[in-house]
Amino acid sequence: MIIGAMEAGGTKFICGVGNEEGEILDRISFKTETPDKTLQQAVDYFKDKGVQAIGIGSFGPINMDLSSPLYGHVTTTPKPGWGGFDFVGVMKQHFPVPIGFDTDVNAAALGEVQWGAAQGLDNCVYYTIGTGVGVGVYAEGRLIHGLVHPEGGHVLTRRHPEDRFEGLCPYHGDCLEGLAAGPAIEKRWGVKGTMLPTEHQAWEMEAYYLGQAIAGVILLLSPKRVILGGGVMHQKQLFPLIRREVRQALNGYVATPAILESLDTYIVPPSLGNNAGLCGALALGIKAIKGWA
Ligand code: ADP
Ligand code: ZN
Repeated sequence: MIIGAMEAGGTKFICGVGNEEGEILDRISFKTETPDKTLQQAVDYFKDKGVQAIGIGSFGPINMDLSSPLYGHVTTTPKPGWGGFDFVGVMKQHFPVPIGFDTDVNAAALGEVQWGAAQGLDNCVYYTIGTGVGVGVYAEGRLIHGLVHPEGGHVLTRRHPEDRFEGLCPYHGDCLEGLAAGPAIEKRWGVKGTMLPTEHQAWEMEAYYLGQAIAGVILLLSPKRVILGGGVMHQKQLFPLIRREVRQALNGYVATPAILESLDTYIVPPSLGNNAGLCGALALGIKAIKGWA
């Protein structure tokens, strides 16, 4: 089978084709412009590839309520032209094949469950810490949508005692995303995260916020693994700092070996690396044919 995969991000789109083994056979990437221009490029890419299904992992917010007439639409994004855009409808017009559609983070979680760091598990949580903070949830063997979809990037956090930065979220100011996404790091310290030395206080503060949020998600959902991806997590020194924060925040209360003894294999980077998003979209495409949860 040849499956189409589309990682639809707010700044760039990645399209590719792959197979049921999770192998990406070909890929291209282009800038996210207006929906018309962007989708035309995607259609041109897929049109002679013979895809039997397409999976789309999309930036949000999106409507995934199958009973809604607005299923498959992008909803309230401030991104020019994308608010209300009928993403799945337009793809269906061009490709009369099963189309899987979910958030970029749910897609990445599914990809990691199928072929990556959460392989074989029936519960995991996937965080991306990049331009924003997003959370994908896979629980009891299926992707979770709930009322709309989880928005764990916007949970409120207890402030670090030395943090005077007001936060960047246009809705909440100092929510997790407002304090810990890439642009917040840049604004707080006046330079891009990539320019800060590994021993800079920025990373301890970053770990304080992420560790706190992860401790919360462990208490709420009891995931069997927590995967941390996105540009900011290229700072590998964050992993031990985050694990320490999680250990401190839980303080022995969740008394299970994964937390007490094996945090190194419990809070991990995506093992699909830079292909995590595209493999996730591939998994959504296969799921659309085979009915994976
Ligand atoms: P996006 O979230 O737009 O899909 P990324 O996950 O690459 O893309 O996130 C981009 C954000 O992550 C930017 O704010 C950037 O400054 C930050 N970032 C990217 N790489 C690194 C890095 N190696 N160290 C620290 N911050 C990074
Ligand atoms: Zn927020």
